[in-house]
Amino acid sequence: MRIVLLGPPGAGKGTQADILVKKLLVPHISTGDMFRAAISHDTELGREAKSYMDKGQLVPDEVTVGIIRDRISQSDCREGFLLDGFPRTLAQAEALAGLLEEMNISLDAVINISVPLDRLIDRLTGRRMCRKCGTIYHLLYNAPEVENICDACGGDLFQRDDDKEETVKSRLDVYSAQTAPLIDYYREAGLLHDVNGDQPINAVLAELGAALGQNWS
Ligand code: ADP
Ligand code: ADP
Ligand code: ZN
Repeated sequence: MRIVLLGPPGAGKGTQADILVKKLLVPHISTGDMFRAAISHDTELGREAKSYMDKGQLVPDEVTVGIIRDRISQSDCREGFLLDGFPRTLAQAEALAGLLEEMNISLDAVINISVPLDRLIDRLTGRRMCRKCGTIYHLLYNAPEVENICDACGGDLFQRDDDKEETVKSRLDVYSAQTAPLIDYYREAGLLHDVNGDQPINAVLAELGAALGQNWS
């Protein structure tokens, strides 16, 4: 299956994607994770991406489309993939459509995880991530068993620089201006499924499974 997860920062895309890819057995492709990996390796891509991410802005379309083109043409994507956080602009969506057409494949579904904007600030400022394996936690809504230690691998948890309150606000503005129009774009293409992201993680997952026609529980 070829799936896109759409939704504002903090909607739960990464959390759901981590669970979904284990059930669907497709690669999890997160442009945010790819940029963070490039930053931690201090590559040229990482340095460029960081200058935008730190301000809560989007990395330019040419750069982002370039890394997606390379990634989805790799052999592990042949049977499908889950895109998390891409596309985020109409230009990226159009570029993706062009890439898929060249490859003679198409998307099966676009899932829009919606959460009221006023709930997202708490989600983002309370988010913590494992430095070693990337597992996502929340101080209140999805806390690890031992404070600041990853349940999965024992790594330390950290707060992303762009999850500080000042940057969060610009990210939410960028979402409304540049990414929200993709909801109508994909609805018109007949691909969109709306999922209510403002409920417990397992309830969101169940709705997602139903939207994808899977009967796991
Ligand atoms: P979140 O999970 O909170 O939505 P991500 O980890 O997906 O955040 O993205 C973090 C940052 O990486 C974004 O704020 C943006 O600067 C950059 N980024 C990620 N995906 C894209 C994209 N498709 N286009 C442009 N920039 C992106
Ligand atoms: P995104 O990738 O869309 O930015 P994340 O999956 O990183 O979102 O989730 C953002 C924050 O909200 C994380 O701290 C995560 O633990 C928490 N979270 C995710 N899903 C839920 C949910 N259904 N209810 C409450 N908190 C959630
Ligand atoms: Zn971990």
